[in-house]
This record gives sequence, structure tokens and C-alpha cells, in this order.
Amino acid sequence: NWDLILYVNLELVNKMSNRRFIVKDMLGQGTFGQVVKCWDTETNDYVAVKLNQKFDPDDKHNIVRMLDYLSFQNHLCIAFEMLGQNLYELLKRNQLRGLKVKYVRAFSKQILDAMVVMRDAGIIHCDLKPENILLAPSVATAAAVKVIDFGSACLEGKTVYSYIQSRYYRSPEVLLGYPYTTAIDMWSFGCIVAELFIGLPLFPGASEYDVLQRMMTILGGQPPDDLLREAKDTGRFFKHVGSIFPGSEAPDGIPSAYRFLSEEEIETRESKRPKVGKWYFPRLKLDRLIYNYPWNNSELTEETDRLALVDFLKGLLEFDPNKRWSPVQALF
Ligand code: ATP
Ligand code: MG
Ligand code: MG
Repeated sequence: NWDLILYVNLELVNKMSNRRFIVKDMLGQGTFGQVVKCWDTETNDYVAVKLNQKFDPDDKHNIVRMLDYLSFQNHLCIAFEMLGQNLYELLKRNQLRGLKVKYVRAFSKQILDAMVVMRDAGIIHCDLKPENILLAPSVATAAAVKVIDFGSACLEGKTVYSYIQSRYYRSPEVLLGYPYTTAIDMWSFGCIVAELFIGLPLFPGASEYDVLQRMMTILGGQPPDDLLREAKDTGRFFKHVGSIFPGSEAPDGIPSAYRFLSEEEIETRESKRPKVGKWYFPRLKLDRLIYNYPWNNSELTEETDRLALVDFLKGLLEFDPNKRWSPVQALF
């Protein structure tokens, strides 16, 4: 949606011209917006001003508002609208026993709404997790949330870093070192939805190996061979054993050419044993997990709600990024 972005930025440029900086020229296109050459009327010198790409200009899509910025002793300070607790704090306040289905559903919809906008702008957030979703002042007593922390975000097709996303919410393609897209945010979103319901992180691995092992146990199967073949770090977790190795298969039941390494093999390779995770969490299959938790409101949760939630999570927690649901697909 580059036309819109250009339009919004030109509007910004015009506003800026009325103030301290007079826009003289376009210097270039940065990752998140344009850089313009300006005359600084305070210092009487030329400066290069970077305009950040603005998305969700009308504050309709649950993304935190940036209000102002200032430079203080060479530190860039950004003023954001004041929001409430983050969702991890909210879960803790509920003794990590999960939220009621109506809140899980409402928050999920709002986060997805933000994700549609981000995807349209080609922005990958790269750090979606409960700490980065904040309660917003509620509209007419309905609970509301907003997405914050674009400090790790990047543009699709211009990805630079390979060590991204917080470990529990890290997608299979990032773990395996495979080129990533906005689909990695959908993986993190799936982890968040499950956590809001259960109350505890879904894949609280103490190491990347542990995270991947938990995914495979809980979701069943392993990442598809196409991904394992192309990814550059597959060897950190899998051994190539040739075609049709019984016991290793992708979720669709196709036998795999790769076998997940045993903990002993990992120990010798990475020379350190995965530590015991912070969370003593049962490694049940996803549907069992959703059926057995949360303890607090299990009686209040309709069986059809649980069935729908398992289906929803399976669309999000799909190993293959090309088959994983997009934000629009998940909304319907
Ligand atoms: P991280 O290491 O998680 O990436 P960070 O340095 O990028 O952190 P943020 O995630 O932007 O920083 O903010 C850290 C925490 O501060 C948030 O989890 C939240 O609890 C609080 N916080 C951030 N922005 C706001 C806001 N607008 N209103 C209220 N609290 C906020
Ligand atoms: Mg943060
Ligand atoms: Mg951050």
C-alpha cells in the first residue's frame, strides 16, 4: 500500500514545513519511510529528517499511538499514548489460570485486526508476545487491547536479522533458519491465543531445541521436509536419514527424510543439556490441553467453544508457513 504511505508522509512533510524544518528535497527511501532534506530554521543548517511510515492513521486498528518525540541529550525519546497492563500481567493477576473464552475471543479479534493492517503494509512485528499487547482504555465497558513495541519490526522482503522473536513465541521457520514472512507473526499469535486460554505459555522451552520438541509433541508431526531441506539450520535439530524413515512424519502423515535428534545427540552437539524449563507444563496433545485447561473456568466453557478453539489454533500453529492462516483467513 505504498500510495497511501506516500500520501500520509507528504501530508506530514507539509505540516513539518510550517514548523521548524523546511522541506527542500527527497533524499531516499528507508526501511520504514522516507528521508527528506530539510532546512533547520533553528540551527540554520541542512538536516536529513527521517519520516516514519505511518499505518493505521485513524487509530481504528488497535495499534499504539505515537504522540510526539524529542531528543534529549542525544537520546531519542518517543511519547506514546498511555495504556494499561500488558497481557502477561493480566494473566498473572488471574493466577495464570487463563481468561474466559469471551475475552480470549475479543482480544484475538482485536490483535488480528492490527495484524491485517501490518500485513497490508508489509510489516513484520517480529516480537508478538503477551508483554507486547496492552490493555487499552475500554470502549463502552468492552475490554480492548492494543499492539505495542515495533522496536524489532522489519519490512517483508527486507529482512535483516535471523535471531528474532522471543523464544517461546519463535516460529519454526525462524528456529530452522528459513526465509521468513509476516507468517511468523501468525505463529506467535497462535501461541498467544493458546496462552490466554490456558494461562501458561504453550511452548516454554528452555532452549530452541526444547521449544521445537515441545511443538512436535503438542502439535504432532514435524516441519515438512521441503522446509527442512531448504532451511540453513536444520542440522542443529535434525539428522538427514534418507527417505521413508518410519516414525518421523509431517502432520499430514507423509514419511520424512529427517529424524529429530535425541537429547543425547543434542548434548554432544551443543555441548549443553537443555535446562529444565521454568514452567512445569504437561506436554499433552493440543486438543487434550485445551480440554483439560483452564481449571478455573472449565465448567463455564462450552464444548463447542473448545472444539472451535482447537480448530482455530491448528490453523495458526501450522508448521508450513505457506499453509498457515493469514490474518484475514483467521478473522473469518
Ligand atoms: P522488549 O525487551 O520486550 O522488546 P522494549 O524495550 O521493546 O521491550 P516495550 O515493549 O515497548 O519495550 O515496553 C516495555 C514494557 O513497558 C511493556 O511490556 C509495557 O508493560 C510497558 N509499556 C510500553 N508502552 C506502554 C504504554 N504506551 N503504556 C503503558 N505501558 C507501556
Ligand atoms: Mg516489548
Ligand atoms: Mg522490543
